[in-house]
Amino acid sequence: MPPYGWRTTGLAYSENEAVQLAAFLSVDLDGVSIEHGLGVQAIGQHSLGRYTYDWGLPRILRLFRVEQIAATFFVPGYEAILHPTMIEDIAAEGHEIAGHGWQHEDPPTDLASERRNMEQTRAALRRVSGQLVIGWRCPNGRKTNHTNSLLRAVGFQYDSSEKDRSRPYTMTVDTSKLIELPTNIQVLDDAALNADQMLPPRELSKVWEREADISYERSHYLPLIIHPRALWGSCTASRIRAIESLIHHLKSKAGVRFVTGSELSAVEGPRFENA
Ligand SMILES: [Zn+2]
Repeated sequence: MPPYGWRTTGLAYSENEAVQLAAFLSVDLDGVSIEHGLGVQAIGQHSLGRYTYDWGLPRILRLFRVEQIAATFFVPGYEAILHPTMIEDIAAEGHEIAGHGWQHEDPPTDLASERRNMEQTRAALRRVSGQLVIGWRCPNGRKTNHTNSLLRAVGFQYDSSEKDRSRPYTMTVDTSKLIELPTNIQVLDDAALNADQMLPPRELSKVWEREADISYERSHYLPLIIHPRALWGSCTASRIRAIESLIHHLKSKAGVRFVTGSELSAVEGPRFENA
């Protein structure tokens, strides 16, 4: 029996549509926030983030446009100050905007600063995107003991930082619920493209397609994290073909639905409550 009875009313989704695989495509928009947060100039060996703006991001947006896919962009709040029109443009193309730290920092050890980073990120992204901004992904997956509580307190409804399961789930945080959309390293582009492995695009496609086939049968959930940065990112002219080929592979299967984080969390929440 298909695992997802689709209940959202967005765009092309029909009521109670049966979905065999939810493909959650997301982009971690790590521009120069990282370097500025560390207090270094984004030049020379520190210029990787600048590739995002004029090369990586336009390429991935073009691919999504051609394939008619809505994705979720996890964005450091500081990027809304640096490049507000960039985020406006992403949102105008129908993509979801979610939070990804203020300057892609490790979480501060004091609770007040961690909360302030979340609040100012959410406020900045809301202002430029016009969206509610309900999702969050911790930079480098790093959390403190307070992170989940703070996310709920600040108004986030889902998190996408954990690596602990192959399926979305709901966690109880204090007296409320936080939806978790976990990720894993098999479908994180920088795990396969980093300096240790540097898989050629054709090999990368094989890894992703095998993951897609198994997820289709078992977990019914496939998260893919895309980075438009230079070096380990997957939005160079050759590497973006691996993403394109994965999308085509997924489209060749019956019952595959491309979903944003907010759409998935809207399905997962009620599913859990009724379980
Ligand atoms: Zn990141």
